[in-house]
Amino acid sequence: MKKVVIVGGGIAGLATAYYLQTRARATNAPIEYQLIESAPTFGGKIVSARADGFVVEGGPDSFIAQKPAALELCRALGLGDQLIGTNDAARKVFVWSRGQLRPMPAGMNLIVPTRITPFLTSSLVSWGGKLRMGLELFIPPRRDDGDESLAHFVRRRLGAEALDKIAEPMIAGIYVADAEDLSLQSTFPRFLEMEKKYGSLIRGMRQQPRPPQNGKAATSMFMTLRDGLQELVEALLDQLDHDALLLNRRVVALRRDAGAYHIALNDGAAIRADAVVFATPAYVSAELLQAIAPELASALRAIGYVSTATVSLGFRRAELSHSLEGFGFVVPSSERRKITACTWSSTKFNHRAPDGYALVRGFIGGAHAEALMEQDDAALVQTVRDELRAMMGITATPVLTKVFRWHKANPQYAVGHQARVTAIERLAAQQTGLYLAGAAYHGVGIPDCIADGARVAAQLLKLEEP
Ligand SMILES: Cc1cc2nc3c(=O)[nH]c(=O)nc-3n(C[C@H](O)[C@H](O)[C@H](O)COP(=O)(O)OP(=O)(O)OC[C@H]3O[C@@H](n4cnc5c(N)ncnc54)[C@H](O)[C@@H]3O)c2cc1C
Repeated sequence: MKKVVIVGGGIAGLATAYYLQTRARATNAPIEYQLIESAPTFGGKIVSARADGFVVEGGPDSFIAQKPAALELCRALGLGDQLIGTNDAARKVFVWSRGQLRPMPAGMNLIVPTRITPFLTSSLVSWGGKLRMGLELFIPPRRDDGDESLAHFVRRRLGAEALDKIAEPMIAGIYVADAEDLSLQSTFPRFLEMEKKYGSLIRGMRQQPRPPQNGKAATSMFMTLRDGLQELVEALLDQLDHDALLLNRRVVALRRDAGAYHIALNDGAAIRADAVVFATPAYVSAELLQAIAPELASALRAIGYVSTATVSLGFRRAELSHSLEGFGFVVPSSERRKITACTWSSTKFNHRAPDGYALVRGFIGGAHAEALMEQDDAALVQTVRDELRAMMGITATPVLTKVFRWHKANPQYAVGHQARVTAIERLAAQQTGLYLAGAAYHGVGIPDCIADGARVAAQLLKLEEP
């Protein structure tokens, strides 16, 4: 019987264990695993707090449906009837600009305008900025194939204002990254392909199949689970062999001897394994691999991380003067506010607040404002309340407050990320039985992490093939 140790019980580690267990059982493969998680709960960044009828997401609040891995896993786990989409009738995103919340023009496909009238009548971008964005149609494509930062790409194609008001808060915001560093190739390769194929993003977007009108799509663009994304973690844990799960135990060292790995835990225990999967942040994997693979460890350290916090506030609906009609707003870093975005959670999804109440969630920190994270919880709540008063006119006292801090949580896909990951995987492949999975490598989203776990499970099963 071959033994695999999976380090890290976030979604990537759990998905690795799930696919390994299901496929090994289906094929009678003589392979067993142990999953080791240092925190008191499984799920890593996925955590949903349920209190007084509110469902508060601490980390992710949804996943993109276009990448099928998460939807398929939810369905395979019997969660199909728990899946809910966004309330697309209220789909509207605002941008904080020049002292007020201004709607993102209808028909924007992330950074590219696809409808003329709403774009021309929008107050978000100046006339000069609109003209510059329109000139995108005539700007020749770049010849060179190398990676490029989001900021460089958008400035080059759509102009500085499109970067400041749209691309930076919408895209760099998703990655909690600095637009000047964020790799386009590793985050939105579609834009690079479109430029190459059609010579223009606007022209390329016009060639794409139109999404069904009036909410007739089979699924929303973003999906979640009725009682919070933690349902996915709970459903995975229901399926996994409980004897194989170790909680509250930290891997502190790794040694390789006589063809096997020896994994030391913080309680003094030692586990022998034929293979090890690191489903941990890259800097943790680097620390643990330093002794046996120093070159790999330094390649892993080159992936930077930033810290964020989410602050959710529940209100009595009647005490809010704001309509909350929309999914929320993003804040360009040039505005120098203390929050980077705010989700109107109970509008975006049903089942997030009890009747008569509303839930909103502010984001703090990220590449431009990590120092704000040093504040204590009460100060973080006050910061978000002050910002919501200034930006949305909310003066009510919240009936619920929940703060989640995410220290060194968001991997930074900086320019050259793909080349760095290729080098990391080449070095990892030199270590027999060593695997890496998770948000640091092939995508930060939940579907990416699940797909990564499935990929690694398939590789582990090959250990058993002659
Ligand atoms: C605030 C926030 C909002 C987000 N929003 C979205 C969203 O809406 N949609 C989306 O798709 N994605 C979103 N993401 C990204 C997504 O949640 C993460 O990329 C993903 O959950 C990471 O999963 P993972 O398994 O790779 O890592 P993690 O969840 O970080 O899991 C790693 C695990 O390893 C454990 N560990 C660390 N060191 C050790 C050790 N020495 N021994 C044992 N265990 C150890 C940790 O405790 C942790 O549980 C968001 C992330 C954040 C922080």
